[in-house]
Amino acid sequence: MGVHAASAAQKPNLVVFLVDDLGWQDVSQPFWTERTAQNATFHTPNLERLCDEGARFTQAYAHCVCTPSRIGILTGEHPARTGVTNWTLRKDTPTDAPHATLTPPNWNCNGLQPEQGVDRSYSAPTLPQRLAKQGYETIHVGKAHFGAAGTRGAEPLQLGFTKNVAGHAAGAPASYLAKDGFARSGSDPIWNVPGLDAWHGKDSFLTDVLTQEAIALVSRAIDERKPFFLHLAHYAVHTPIQRDEARIARYLAMGLDPKEAAYAALVEGIDDSLGALVEFLRARGALDNTVIVFASDNGGLSAHARGGTPHTHNAPLRSGKGSAYEGGVRTPFAIRWPSVAAPGSVIDAPCAIEDVFPTLCNAGGADASCNYGQDLAPLLAGEKRDRDLFWHYPHSWGATGPGISMTSSIRSGDWKLVWFWDRAECELYDLSKDLGEQRDLAAAQPETARALRNKLRAFLLESRAMLPVRKDGIAIAMP
Ligand code: CA
Repeated sequence: MGVHAASAAQKPNLVVFLVDDLGWQDVSQPFWTERTAQNATFHTPNLERLCDEGARFTQAYAHCVCTPSRIGILTGEHPARTGVTNWTLRKDTPTDAPHATLTPPNWNCNGLQPEQGVDRSYSAPTLPQRLAKQGYETIHVGKAHFGAAGTRGAEPLQLGFTKNVAGHAAGAPASYLAKDGFARSGSDPIWNVPGLDAWHGKDSFLTDVLTQEAIALVSRAIDERKPFFLHLAHYAVHTPIQRDEARIARYLAMGLDPKEAAYAALVEGIDDSLGALVEFLRARGALDNTVIVFASDNGGLSAHARGGTPHTHNAPLRSGKGSAYEGGVRTPFAIRWPSVAAPGSVIDAPCAIEDVFPTLCNAGGADASCNYGQDLAPLLAGEKRDRDLFWHYPHSWGATGPGISMTSSIRSGDWKLVWFWDRAECELYDLSKDLGEQRDLAAAQPETARALRNKLRAFLLESRAMLPVRKDGIAIAMP
């Protein structure tokens, strides 16, 4: 019997293992044809094993900042449609940095909300709501960052989760250290990680604490013979890049810059978490009836706060988090799914973070309807898919760097076109020959550029995407 036809008692358990800000090169498992120097720096044997036992995706994409990707997992909807095109924090308070010539649109800065009728907020059932209806225990552990503080959407329990540990409005922890109470004196308390009071004062690191909390809740679901959906969304490897003393020695001994050594230790922490979860499921006899999706919510941070040269950490990809270039949006992605994903398989088809939604809805026997995400199971079975992907980021992120601008973009076949709203110009790259987006072919290939601009414009109109406005009052130019 296939997974899709399984009876309620045999429903597969579903896990989204989401890492924050993990770059395409930030792991020892290559998601490319080559093993790079960065791959050799990081130590993620549990992810390597997950890929050996499942499928890895070489062209998986998220959005360039946190919240749009996170809402994509929960809804299958593109941010151009939900209006949550940037990261959220406080009610009715946009997080945009100022821009010299453009004003950002009046985007949905409150994020995902359970209410009907709020302007442009999403009102169809979320992934956990749909799975709960199928008898699932729906467990959120870690960083939520779905809705702004002071709104109902800040609380995962309002969005369909039956359990929530440590998730709220903020997208970063004040501190990873339990001895600090996951808080930092002098910092705005909005960043304090909630709900972990029993750990305060102990000598524990946040990543390990979240792993233990997740395993305890999963253990209870197994005891109660309930299928579970675990959304284990680590705060790591987001800033602050703090030292994980239990793991940093290896990287200091390698001679890494101290900040990069701390970053690599954060990465190893999430890999240890993955390993602990998998081993727990194996020990409980639940592993082979569990689908595990490994993902990151945006490209690796490279504009600031890292050691070494800015904008180089995702090489051969250009730039990093916040950018329309590949470094900002291409991410590590893998699925372990016995009976569906052949061990060691490699999926080269481009796919989007929103695809997690219909994939897991279908796996759990729930309604999978949505406007943007597509089920990944057929790809795992060998289907070829020719599909365009889109991004819409009409915002000033704050940090500056290559491709960090008000942009919308499209990937179609091997081509990638980025539209810069302030310049009213596009850039065009052939990713099959120029993965690093160094040779702009917009002038040399005008027909291709025109075709992609037409597709991008049509997508933005069809999605009712909100656009930036020129401060001089002249109508903004569409792609
Ligand atoms: Ca992120």
